[in-house]
Amino acid sequence: MEIKKTSKQYDVIIVGSGAGGGMATKVLSEAGLKVAVVESGPYYDPANPEQMTQLKWAWQSPRRGAGTTRPFGDFDQAYGGWDIEGEPYTQKDDTNFRWFRSRMLGGRTNHWGRISLRFGPNDFKKKSIDGLGEDWPLTYEDLKPYYDKVDKLIGVFGTKENLYNEPDGFFLPPPKPRLHELYYIKAAKKADIKVIPSRLSVITKRINNDRGVCFYCNGCARSCNVYADFSSGSCLIFPAQNAGGQIDLYVNSMVRTVETNSEGKATGVSYINKDDGNEYKLNGKVVVLAASACSSARILLNSKSKQHPNGLGNSSDLVGKYLHDSTGGDMMAFLPQLTNRKIYNEDGVGGMHVYSPWWLDNKKLDFPRGYHIEVWGGMGAPTYGTGFNVNHFNKFFGLKAGGYGDVLRSDMKKYYGSTIGFSGRGESVAMKSNYCEIDPNKVDKYGVPVLRFNYKWTDYEIKQAKHMQDTFEEIIHNMGGQPLWNKPGIESNYGLTKPGEIIHEVGTTRMGKNPKESVVDQFERMHDVENVFVVDAGPFVSQADKNPTWTIMALAWRASDHIVSEFKKQNF
Ligand SMILES: Cc1cc2nc3c(=O)[nH]c(=O)nc-3n(C[C@H](O)[C@H](O)[C@H](O)COP(=O)(O)OP(=O)(O)OC[C@H]3O[C@@H](n4cnc5c(N)ncnc54)[C@H](O)[C@@H]3O)c2cc1C
Ligand code: SF4
Repeated sequence: MEIKKTSKQYDVIIVGSGAGGGMATKVLSEAGLKVAVVESGPYYDPANPEQMTQLKWAWQSPRRGAGTTRPFGDFDQAYGGWDIEGEPYTQKDDTNFRWFRSRMLGGRTNHWGRISLRFGPNDFKKKSIDGLGEDWPLTYEDLKPYYDKVDKLIGVFGTKENLYNEPDGFFLPPPKPRLHELYYIKAAKKADIKVIPSRLSVITKRINNDRGVCFYCNGCARSCNVYADFSSGSCLIFPAQNAGGQIDLYVNSMVRTVETNSEGKATGVSYINKDDGNEYKLNGKVVVLAASACSSARILLNSKSKQHPNGLGNSSDLVGKYLHDSTGGDMMAFLPQLTNRKIYNEDGVGGMHVYSPWWLDNKKLDFPRGYHIEVWGGMGAPTYGTGFNVNHFNKFFGLKAGGYGDVLRSDMKKYYGSTIGFSGRGESVAMKSNYCEIDPNKVDKYGVPVLRFNYKWTDYEIKQAKHMQDTFEEIIHNMGGQPLWNKPGIESNYGLTKPGEIIHEVGTTRMGKNPKESVVDQFERMHDVENVFVVDAGPFVSQADKNPTWTIMALAWRASDHIVSEFKKQNF
């Protein structure tokens, strides 16, 4: 295929516009650099009425909000999903890795859960603590100033708790717990489980004139038209454009490779324009990959040259290795005390108002890493289904289950808001044997070789999942509730989710001091190629029992500051 070259020369080309790419766009453009953002999905603005799914009623969707094209239901704001037509991925042996891709400006930040947790001091030195995996080449203290800046720029609610490994930040006021959450607090405390207000990047108090304040519509997964929740477009890229940044957005543009010269240095990227099907080349002094952990690994592995025969920056053979996702385990319960509730508007932010950070010492347990508990339930605006079969709830009172018409209607009212759910989200141990690689036998519809996944949970994660289920059982018992399905046993790894399913995949370009044992340094700069940086979750050494995005953005900001200082020294 002929490659069409553009004459434009950029200081920095950023691939991907999600959490990492958005942060790099803001910091680099505000420093005066000329930036190209190359994004494989379309332009997206949560405030555009034509793209909005927020504030729509269930009856406005032909299937009451049930999924047709969108993975989590019609109102979810993802363009893309688990399966994208013409963009397959493959699995080795009996691997069943699930790969979620949001293809749109802002990436997955348009519909993520907004749980915005800092990693704690211990999370950067897990090998020193339990001998497994590797320590990070930087400490919490190194990253703390950037977490502080992210908190202040974007806004996160929460409370100061003085918990060593759950560092406090700069918090906006949190919303109050709702009834089901009050039940959770009481039952969890009885089991000696700590419960604190959640930490979500939702604006509960005005922080500037560009963004509105949350009006509690419960709809963050639909993205917020007043920009009260964080998404990369509304909070990073648009403000950077409005501030006069020199930013060219290339949307619907799928990067195939990073291009290099005879010295092995990057010269730009080649991308396929999805609108005209042609391939183009952009020139840049620096390339910043932020296409998400697995997509960036794919681009690097596909960027082979004489100087980089094993893929760009892959002399360590570690690009794609140490892929790891959070663990997950769920349970749901019926609370008889919550039947026949007075129905009122209980909507809050689009997520939980309280949660439990990891509360135990792994040295006293038979698995090495912890998990946190997310809580859900109550009376959200009804959409498709109710999350359970109401007809069956009568069995808890020895009554006949089933019915339709008036019986069904009155059962609906009786049981509405009487359920609660728990999700454990935990840390897995990064294993070299879990990885993505290029499948030599398959290309996608653009002719780009696809990824093949190799992934197996170890006993560490399986034992952790068992602990989650034992914990949920105790909490439900303390509440006087009834579990809505059987406790999963060993035959299903105690309900452990499939790898990839929690959508926290990290580690494919891990950072470190030793170029033989890592792909990038602590500033996310490739050891092998001095003008290529990776600012998504690829550089994570370990996952922590936290969600990753706040750390992606703190690291991306730190890396971007480093790029700016290198430009100032004329090192590019
Ligand atoms: C439903 C859901 C809930 C979540 N909840 C939370 C949560 O509560 N807390 C949390 O911390 N995390 C959460 N996450 C995870 C979070 O969204 C990700 O960690 C974060 O968005 C990753 O940022 P990123 O920049 O690496 O990738 P992304 O946000 O995925 O952005 C990558 C971008 O790169 C583009 N791209 C990919 N390949 C190419 C290519 N070849 N060329 C050009 N562009 C490309 C994509 O289109 C995309 O826009 C959730 C995710 C989902 C889906
Ligand atoms: S809950 Fe608040 S932040 Fe989320 S979409 Fe609704 S108004 Fe916006």
